[in-house]
Amino acid sequence: MAASPRSITILGATGSIGVSTLDVLRHMEPEAFTIEALTGASNIPLLAQQAKACHARLAVTADEARYHDLRDALSGTDIEVAAGRQAVIEAASRPVDVTMAAIVGIAGLAPTLAAVRHGGTIALANKECLVCAGSLFMRECETHGVTLLPVDSEHNAIYQVLAGQRREAVQSIILTASGGPFRTWGRERMANVTAQTAADHPNWSMGLKISIDSASMFNKALEMIEAQHLFTLTPEQVEVIVHPQSIVHSMVRYCDGSVLAQLGPADMRIPIAYALAWPDRMELPADRLDFTALSRLDFEAPDEARFPAIMLARRALAEGGASGAVLNGAKEAALDGFIEGRIGFLDMADRVELAMESLAGLPEPQTLSEVEALDRQARTIARG
Ligand code: NAD
Ligand code: MG
Repeated sequence: MAASPRSITILGATGSIGVSTLDVLRHMEPEAFTIEALTGASNIPLLAQQAKACHARLAVTADEARYHDLRDALSGTDIEVAAGRQAVIEAASRPVDVTMAAIVGIAGLAPTLAAVRHGGTIALANKECLVCAGSLFMRECETHGVTLLPVDSEHNAIYQVLAGQRREAVQSIILTASGGPFRTWGRERMANVTAQTAADHPNWSMGLKISIDSASMFNKALEMIEAQHLFTLTPEQVEVIVHPQSIVHSMVRYCDGSVLAQLGPADMRIPIAYALAWPDRMELPADRLDFTALSRLDFEAPDEARFPAIMLARRALAEGGASGAVLNGAKEAALDGFIEGRIGFLDMADRVELAMESLAGLPEPQTLSEVEALDRQARTIARG
């Protein structure tokens, strides 16, 4: 007998992870999922097309001014339409079995917390939830009996290799980093790059912001803090190694000297499929690793002088308190400045450092509004 369908909401359906999620759903049994809500922001044609194709009940754009565009694009269907920040939060609040949390940035925090509060499974791509509000977020997940499944490829890898192991047996986790497009570049050369060059990732196809964060290694910085909260680690238990081929997605070092790794092609549909099929596994027509074609796997220590984001993350791991929210808020503002051409590539880390120094020692935020207030303060400092 076929299992009854599970319901899913995709927050950030029109982004890179959202599109891949819908693609993975197409490879599942047709009755596996019903789609409750899809949310997007500016790409109304794509959102409308997705909502029609998967028979979503509700489509929401975060951009209030685009309400009429979305309503017109969905006229003649019975798909409900809504718009605005609050509407995204309300969509996330509708009870479903699974929520894919794939909005980019701290904008994803309030909707994902709303989803946490109805329980069920959260497939978490939005790492900023843990970076900005780690303790709060994990506490809410526990209170509401949420099954939290990481979608970020490194954390998904670690989750997979932790399965069936005693947590006390973990010595450390080893996050792999591709090193991005500037892995071998000197700082002088990095100083003048444009957002377009920085977004050109050698291995992964991702949204604009995370691609640039990979080039500056701020993505790895966020992931170090994400891992600390997700797997309850001390700062010393978070290792980072540069691995340019992006085949080993991360590893866990155990107390007996064993290291377990998860390997696979650089295809985000694989961790997404793991989260959607969990605790089972599904057939996915992704590429298969051909070990005879892999001539080598390289590993090198990250260069913190060229990539100060790693050093700033270490500082945040050690300091705790508000530092994750401050690092992220400052990083988001600096990244916007870089994308808009107001500041240079290397200025981003300087702005984040300035914000972290100015707001050092503040206590950990306990509520969403405290997180948002810290975020605003950090952004103001980083904007300069
Ligand atoms: P993206 O920029 O491609 O898509 C972002 C989505 O969020 C879009 O649907 C957009 O409409 C929506 N959005 C943007 N601003 C919004 C706002 N203010 N309010 C509501 N919705 C808004 O981003 P992405 O690459 O898919 O990344 C999404 C999240 O997943 C990020 O947190 C990223 O760090 C994480 N992640 C992405 C990848 C990847 O391969 N793309 C890998 C690991 C983790
Ligand atoms: Mg990642």
